[in-house]
Amino acid sequence: TTVGVVRESVEGERRVALVPKVVASLTGRGIRVLVESGAGLSALIPDELYLEAGAEIGDPWSADVVVKVAPPTDAEIAKLSEGSTLIGFLAPRNADNKIDALAAAGVQGFAVEAIPRISRAQVMDALSSQANVAGYKSVILAASESTRFFPMLTTAAGTVKPATVLVLGVGVAGLQALATAKRLGGRPTGYDVRPEVADQVRSVGAQWLDLGIDAAGEGGYARELTESERAQQQQALEEAIKSFDVVITTALVPGRPAPRLVTAAAVEGMKPGSVVVDLAGETGGNCELTEPGQTVVKHDVTICSPLNLPATMPEHASELYSKNVSALLELMIDENGSLAPDFSDEVLAQSCVTRKAEA
Ligand code: NAD
Repeated sequence: TTVGVVRESVEGERRVALVPKVVASLTGRGIRVLVESGAGLSALIPDELYLEAGAEIGDPWSADVVVKVAPPTDAEIAKLSEGSTLIGFLAPRNADNKIDALAAAGVQGFAVEAIPRISRAQVMDALSSQANVAGYKSVILAASESTRFFPMLTTAAGTVKPATVLVLGVGVAGLQALATAKRLGGRPTGYDVRPEVADQVRSVGAQWLDLGIDAAGEGGYARELTESERAQQQQALEEAIKSFDVVITTALVPGRPAPRLVTAAAVEGMKPGSVVVDLAGETGGNCELTEPGQTVVKHDVTICSPLNLPATMPEHASELYSKNVSALLELMIDENGSLAPDFSDEVLAQSCVTRKAEA
């Protein structure tokens, strides 16, 4: 089997699908790895390090398995050969996904987003590994945009109160945001519609905000709220948000627009100089005043909605993603090093979005 590592072409995508350390473990098993020249450059990994790890610098698009980070562009799909396999974020739930184009090109696609969230597949869970990066970075961004300190300071010039940080939506990113805010000396509070999250919130030293809405859905995800629940939630949050210096939002419902948790009135109610970091910009945003991809100031509150935060920490984000990708690869490669995905395995069956017709 040959594995191709491509140089990402989408603007701002600084991650690479395999880092040299992981490449070395594959080449050590006799797998040939073809790395596109410059594939690691924006993650500060020169070609030489791939060569040292036993890879070749060459055309990755001709490989049996092409590994990527960002969903492929049309130009990239055109470079894939019929019968090849592609592993990466394929955004299968996005309206503009390229699943049909991959199928038409005869490419077998595995979407890392569709890997089931089961214990055995945790090592392959790229949504989680990258959400950890985003959750961490969201707090760093909030601290940097804030006009106030995060930690409590007792100085000769006076005492500063710690920042209060509210995290709305406590999945993987939210939990990491709470833990990071705590480490920076802030006072974090978490809120979610899945009551089971309360214990996780407390375990990182944060407080739990209970608004009495239970919307636990399937597979550990939330369901969309009903119209009346949504109104109730928005109103209760409007009141709660007033007392926070920083609000970080990460709420998502699979395949749906981001729930609107922070209304314009809630922003207006915040103290001037407060900060909202909205991680749900890609699906429209959790805050009514969010402009996806932009930082705006409304009612003297700074609202940031960065897109693709993991790409802003390409070194560690790539390192974690590589581990996810190689674990998925291992599952498809048999003891002789041949590509032989066993579709009776639910991890492969569910993550495969286009599949060759079985003979
Ligand atoms: P996600 O990114 O889909 O959503 C983020 C959070 O937003 C979720 O906690 C969700 O409950 C919350 N949310 C949705 N609508 C909301 C609303 N109206 N108000 C407030 N909050 C709202 O979540 P995720 O990080 O992908 O995690 C999803 C689930 O998967 C979690 O249960 C997590 O523990 C689980 N998980 C399991 C594994 C595993 O076992 N392998 C790995 C990772 C995550």
